[in-house]
Amino acid sequence: MEWTRSETLGLALVQCTTCHGLGLRMVKRDKEAPCNCVLRSIFRACFRRFRKCVEKEKHLSQCTFNFTGGRERSMSWGRKDEEFVADFLLMVRRLLSDDEYRIFRFHHLLGADWRLCTMRLKMDRGDFFHSLYKIEARLGKAFREVEPYGLFPLDEYFNGTTREVVASVPPRQGPAPLRPPMAA
Ligand SMILES: [Zn+2]
Repeated sequence: MEWTRSETLGLALVQCTTCHGLGLRMVKRDKEAPCNCVLRSIFRACFRRFRKCVEKEKHLSQCTFNFTGGRERSMSWGRKDEEFVADFLLMVRRLLSDDEYRIFRFHHLLGADWRLCTMRLKMDRGDFFHSLYKIEARLGKAFREVEPYGLFPLDEYFNGTTREVVASVPPRQGPAPLRPPMAA
């Protein structure tokens, strides 16, 4: 997939010393790739949503009728919060090695801070943060690039709005007509 500057600009860290807030970095003479600050910000957005879905009271979870893009039946019922939690965890487990998953589990799932993690995992602080940033960037990239439906952007995942669908909706012409006053 193609990464464009309009997409990465809003996700990049303004103070990033690699991309200087533009979100793209040169990897070859004529090829650009998303900067790690963009990938990590995608990871953080997905992780925030994952936590929200997990912490939500179960009776608040909604069943929704979603566009799935299939040839025969393009709509189906689903529980998006639960699907997101399952997709998130499945991708994490598939993408990370056992050692990386241990870091992810202690820090992200069990909420241990770097002191506890380094003690438990017998790592020094530098190695721990180096691995953590690498893990977050790799997951962020996968969440955006996985086919056919990425976990990110979140509104596409949860509301089924794809860029094509959005692009095909004609723009609204002028303000909406006012309703006549209702009879008293
Ligand atoms: Zn950057």
